[in-house]
Amino acid sequence: MVTRNTSWRGLGKVPYETWRDVILGAGGLPEYAAYEVWLALGDDSALALQQLREESSFASDFEAIPADWWNAWNLQIDGVGIKNRNAVEAAKAWRSRVYDPSYKNGVYANTDTIEEFFNAYAPEWDNNDTEAYIRESVDGINTFGLLGGSPVATADSIKPKFTSAPVTKQRDGQVFNYGTRSPIVGLVIHETQGRGTGPGYQAFFSCPGGERCNDALVDWLIDRDGVLWEYQDPYDTNRIPWASGGAENNGAIGKPINAKYRGSFGGVNKVYAAVEMVKTDTEALTKAQITTAGKLLAFVAAKAGYPANDWQYPDALGGNVYTAPHHSDISQTSCRISDSDKNAIIAVAQKSIDAFYAGVTPGDPEPEVPVDEIVPGVDLAIAKRFFGIAKGEDNLSYSYDPNGPVSKMWTERAKETGVWPKLLNVWLYGAGANLRKYFVFEGGYAILASGGSVKELEQP
Ligand SMILES: [Zn+2]
Repeated sequence: MVTRNTSWRGLGKVPYETWRDVILGAGGLPEYAAYEVWLALGDDSALALQQLREESSFASDFEAIPADWWNAWNLQIDGVGIKNRNAVEAAKAWRSRVYDPSYKNGVYANTDTIEEFFNAYAPEWDNNDTEAYIRESVDGINTFGLLGGSPVATADSIKPKFTSAPVTKQRDGQVFNYGTRSPIVGLVIHETQGRGTGPGYQAFFSCPGGERCNDALVDWLIDRDGVLWEYQDPYDTNRIPWASGGAENNGAIGKPINAKYRGSFGGVNKVYAAVEMVKTDTEALTKAQITTAGKLLAFVAAKAGYPANDWQYPDALGGNVYTAPHHSDISQTSCRISDSDKNAIIAVAQKSIDAFYAGVTPGDPEPEVPVDEIVPGVDLAIAKRFFGIAKGEDNLSYSYDPNGPVSKMWTERAKETGVWPKLLNVWLYGAGANLRKYFVFEGGYAILASGGSVKELEQP
């Protein structure tokens, strides 16, 4: 139960259905009833809905400020109404106003409870019936009801542990544009198509001097050990990376995403967060990577407020927009982890989301299953030493990965022959979907990886 002493900050979300039905039921503009508007308000949608009632009778009364100024919260600067471009911007403007520490010398910054908020918003000295505002607002918010009851655990509580590793850029155009990212509706899962470390990619992407300063930026990266590296926080950045673009893929998954977002809300890159999984194009993800990616996906879905049983294709987005696409689902690219790894990520995410809505504090990931000996006397650590580490022609380091198809094939042969040849080099030919990688080992043994399959090249 919300009272006048409840903190108004991050008070909670109303269920999206309530948001929509209240506005449409009052004859408000459907643009304000849109899911993206609700999403942009995050944990402040309950207070925002109540304020929408006060300022424009739920976006139905535009006597004070014309409807096409997109200012249903009736924000003013020096007595003049502001203009926004759409309802999402109007919502964001309201939210930044109440959280702005410098607005009117911190008039809201010094408030915490609902009572204090209304003393600032509609003070008695200005001939307001402040008490009526407080009472009506508390009643209104309790009538709407908060998603998940009150108080609600915040989605931020399930963000997986991460290491902050900010990527520096110097100017707009270095594979990003300045702008706001919210609302974030999903997470595009990418693969690096090469091996590297979290700090390595940080330096690689950073300006000046990074090799990919001008052509790479993502929000997150998950390394082979499952460590999450945060290059920028998509919920708290003014950079929109061009991570998930490229010529449109109008397949079954891409078509609804492209139809909805290429354009209207500023593009796919704006509304999807982006994570890179460190892997070559042919190898599988490690179990640790799958665990972290699943938790990250659950965090993104919880931030968006999707219900536990409807987060993959949420009704609120039309029921056909996928929360967790491959890059190649949206654009024409070879960037795609395997479907089985993707399904494993989804399964982890489902467990985390279920736990979140059940109010269970997520614990640490389950311990890794110990790897048995490959043959007597050779366990994983020994196999790694035999395999060695080699630098490929793409300048990336390649080493043994128990889940990778090349390593698996190498292991099978070693089990049969008793020979454990060291990796000498990785040659690269072709590009994109036609990329061929030759893993060249001591003694003339080689494995060709291309188009998602691997093949042994034995010399007589
Ligand atoms: Zn990609």
